[in-house]
Amino acid sequence: MQIQDKKFELYLSEQEILNSIEEVAERINTDYKGEEVVFVGVLNGAFMFAADLMKSIKLTCEISFVKVTSYKGTSSTGKVHELIGLSTDIKDKHVVILEDIVDTGLTLSKLYSMVDHNAPKSVEVATLLYKPEAFKGKYPPKYYGIKIPNKFIVGYGLDYLEFGRNSREIYKIIE
Ligand code: 5GP
Repeated sequence: MQIQDKKFELYLSEQEILNSIEEVAERINTDYKGEEVVFVGVLNGAFMFAADLMKSIKLTCEISFVKVTSYKGTSSTGKVHELIGLSTDIKDKHVVILEDIVDTGLTLSKLYSMVDHNAPKSVEVATLLYKPEAFKGKYPPKYYGIKIPNKFIVGYGLDYLEFGRNSREIYKIIE
């Protein structure tokens, strides 16, 4: 697949993605059984993951979205900008942040402080994809679907220069 100036090859099929999401949902359903949860999806990238995950969540829950950005092209700028803040009351509530991908973990630490600021009962992170080799944060995500190497990917919500988000599969960059 060609997006702008870069070539990508198929990396994860739709079925592999959906199976891993099902496993994440089951773990969350088990861990929060009998509890109420507020899910906080991170736009833009996590919109597909959030939609598919929520279909398998059996808890009493709310979902809200925030919007942050740190990437330009194929690498992180090192600065996280908050574009849309949290509009849901999360005081004394269990919060699960939904990320498309955890790379350096910089976005995650910004999100943690955004959420923690509002005095929740607990905060955890569920991400579809996790790049452990790139991770520099303190707390790795508790829930992740698939561990991937430190390569740039697109599809299933993830973009290259805002394109490619609409793909059902995930593609890896050909270098
Ligand atoms: P971090 O702050 O953990 O370095 O990066 C997290 C954000 O960077 C993700 O939410 C995502 O928007 C973007 N990102 C990180 N790795 C990739 C990647 O391989 N492909 C795409 N399209 N975005 C990525």
